[in-house]
Amino acid sequence: MKKKLLNGVKTLAITCRQFGDTGKGKFVDLFSEWADIIARGLGGDNCGHTSWYNGQELVTHLIPSGIRDDKNGKINLIGSGVVFNPKTAIDELLELAAKGISYDHLLIALNAKLITPADIVMDRIKEAAAGSGKIGSTGKGIGPTYADVPDRQGLIVNDLINSNFFFAKLKRHLENKARVLRNFDQELIKQILDHQSLSSGIYYNPQTIFDTEAIYEQYLIYGRELQPMITDTDDFMRQSLGKKNILLEGAQGDLLSVKHGTYPFVTSSDCTVAGLSEGVGLQKSDIDLSLGIIKGFYMSRVGCGPFPSELGRDESDKWCNGGQGNRQRELELYGQPPLNDPNEFLQGIALRQAGNEYGATTGRPRRVGWLDLPLLRYVLRFNSPDIILTKLDVLNDAEIIRICYQYEYCGPDFWLGNKRIKKGDEINEAIPYAEVLQHCRPLYSEFPGWQRSLAGCHSLEQLPPELKMILQFVVDQTGINPRIISIGADRDETIFV
Ligand code: GDP
Repeated sequence: MKKKLLNGVKTLAITCRQFGDTGKGKFVDLFSEWADIIARGLGGDNCGHTSWYNGQELVTHLIPSGIRDDKNGKINLIGSGVVFNPKTAIDELLELAAKGISYDHLLIALNAKLITPADIVMDRIKEAAAGSGKIGSTGKGIGPTYADVPDRQGLIVNDLINSNFFFAKLKRHLENKARVLRNFDQELIKQILDHQSLSSGIYYNPQTIFDTEAIYEQYLIYGRELQPMITDTDDFMRQSLGKKNILLEGAQGDLLSVKHGTYPFVTSSDCTVAGLSEGVGLQKSDIDLSLGIIKGFYMSRVGCGPFPSELGRDESDKWCNGGQGNRQRELELYGQPPLNDPNEFLQGIALRQAGNEYGATTGRPRRVGWLDLPLLRYVLRFNSPDIILTKLDVLNDAEIIRICYQYEYCGPDFWLGNKRIKKGDEINEAIPYAEVLQHCRPLYSEFPGWQRSLAGCHSLEQLPPELKMILQFVVDQTGINPRIISIGADRDETIFV
């Protein structure tokens, strides 16, 4: 069945049509068998990939999870659209080596953007100073590093291996950042630089904030270690196009794209398939098959930003973003409520527990809610309709499943160009601006759940009629073309439609 889907396909992209965390890892894993090259083109060490190797859990943030197949000659590639933290890369490579995992075929784009300690400090300081306007940054320097590019202050990986001009470039970069940072709490900056992830204070200088010499020396060491892997990956990808099987692995989700997402509550890269292609030196039109993932029939969101169908709305937002909650604490406080708890906040907890919707590294609860078709219709504007539905088994016990088919606008008058949006308006396709989305009341269609296990279902026909009915509703409402249905984390819990 996989063969049929991949018939004539040489370049395959997998991205997410929601807010991320839709189970992309499973499909990257599934298709890496077919792929010769597994490439990332976006984000940095702000995403986590969990996979298994010889019975051991393998969590990588920067290195693609396809690295497990390095021993089979597969090429894993970190593309030019990635923002690259050399310390994370080296720490992860050391961990791989300790686990006996090779990385002989790992390629790193010479023009990937380099994250510096100043970018990380900038990120953390800005988030700390933002108060209620914070966007939920992971504090890894991703945003400032991307912003360095149009700001013309950016460094690239290749700078690490050219000591003759690296110092001057780095000095200018650090001085520019320090000029801005002078306006912030100096004690906090020192504290941030004391953190182990920033080499425990060696980069701090009380006069100039950053010790250029110390950063320079350390980064040259990183450069020497990484140099054998650093290459012109854009050229490599172009040369491989049509000849090798290429799998492009997305990051985050369309609704978090800086270009198309729910701005400003977005990540700092364009995580749509267009951004992904560009981030590996290709074009969207080079992709033969673009698969987008949604969870069936719910969604999750990490961090701040509007989420109309969120179960428990403000209470959930507060709990998930308050910084106090984690999986264990949630269990202690709320136990295990049923999936059909009449209290929506508790129902959200039940859904989170059933879907294991907690941050991979932090254990932080993800906000969860029902599948939102206005948002789905919106992302389909700039995407192919080919969809992977994951995690359907999570709703096995739900008596009632709700699908948000439309919004009712409940906010003050809003001008969308020359069109006025007013209270009581029906909205079919989401308007991605936070000012509008936060005032959208979801309207739901209710369906009876299938209330049984999906184990043993190997074809669409074998799925329960209740599930098929909901799926048909989503297809009719949005025009998606379901290609794969995932009913469990294992490879064989996968239905090719
Ligand atoms: P990703 O970053 O997009 O890979 O998403 P997550 O970090 O949320 O990981 C998804 C988790 O869901 C992983 O532990 C997967 O093994 C698991 N998973 C993937 N597909 C399914 C599925 O169909 N059902 C269930 N129950 N789990 C799944």
